[in-house]
Amino acid sequence: RPIFEARGLTKVYEMGEVRVEALRGVDLDIHAGEFLVLLGPSGSGKSTLLNILGGLDVPTSGTVRYGDHDLTVDDDAAMTRYRRAHVGFVFQFYNLIPSLTARENVALVTEIADDPMRPEDALALVGLAHRLDHFPSQMSGGEQQRVAIARAVAKRPQVLLCDEPTGALDVHTGVMVLEVIARVNRELGTTTVVITHNAVIAGMADRVVHFGDGQVARIERNAVRQPAS
Ligand code: ADP
Ligand code: ADP
Repeated sequence: RPIFEARGLTKVYEMGEVRVEALRGVDLDIHAGEFLVLLGPSGSGKSTLLNILGGLDVPTSGTVRYGDHDLTVDDDAAMTRYRRAHVGFVFQFYNLIPSLTARENVALVTEIADDPMRPEDALALVGLAHRLDHFPSQMSGGEQQRVAIARAVAKRPQVLLCDEPTGALDVHTGVMVLEVIARVNRELGTTTVVITHNAVIAGMADRVVHFGDGQVARIERNAVRQPAS
C-alpha cells in the first residue's frame, strides 16, 4: 500500500475577482522509501501539491491519505503534530539561525524529537563532519543547504519534502546537494519528494512526475538511477 494516496486533488485560490486553479484533479500514489521528483513549468502546481503532502495546506476538494491519516482535515493542531512527527522540509532558502553554529542549528530540532539522531551524526551524513562549529556566514551556499538537510532529517522523519532545494545554487553545487538528498533517501529509507528544474537531478530519482497546468501530465520511471557526474 502506498504511503501517500492522493485522489482528485483540486486547489483553488480566490483573490477578489481573480480565481486560480492551482491543482485540477491530481491522482498520485507515492511509495514508502521512494525518491520522487516533481518537474514542470513555474506555476504548474508543484509547490501546492508539496504543501498539501506536508500538511502546510489543504486541498479545496479531493482526498490525501498518509498511512492511516486523512490529510484533508482542516485541523491546525493535528496538522502541526503530523508535520513535527513525520515530515522534514527543505526549501530554496536555508533559514538557518545566523547566531548559531551548524551543530546548534541542528540541535534545536533534535531537542523536540522522540528518537533523534545526534546532531554530529546528521551533519556527518550530509558530509559536514568538519563544519560542526562553523556559523552559517562561514559556510558556502551548498554547505548551508546541507546543514538545512541535516536539520530536516535529524528527527528521522518518514518523509522529506524539498521545494527547489537547489534553486539558489549553481548547477554543480546543486547536483552535489541532490547527491546528499539521494544518500539520505538510500541510507535512512526516507520517502523523498523533490521539486526541481534540473534534468540531471531528475535522472537521479526513481520516478519523475511531469506537471503541467495543475495536472500530472505523465510519470516517467527511471529503471536505474543515474549517478550524478
Ligand atoms: P509551481 O510550484 O509549479 O511553480 P505553485 O503551486 O506555486 O506552482 O502555483 C500554482 C498556481 O497557484 C500559480 O498560478 C500560483 O500563482 C498560484 N498560487 C500559489 N499559491 C498561491 C496563493 N497562496 N495565493 C494565490 N495564488 C497562489
Ligand atoms: P507514530 O508514527 O509515531 O505512531 P502517528 O502516526 O500516530 O505517530 O502520528 C503522530 C502524531 O501526528 C499523532 O499525534 C497524530 O495524531 C498526528 N498525525 C499524523 N498524521 C496526521 C494527519 N494526517 N492529520 C492529523 N494528524 C496527524
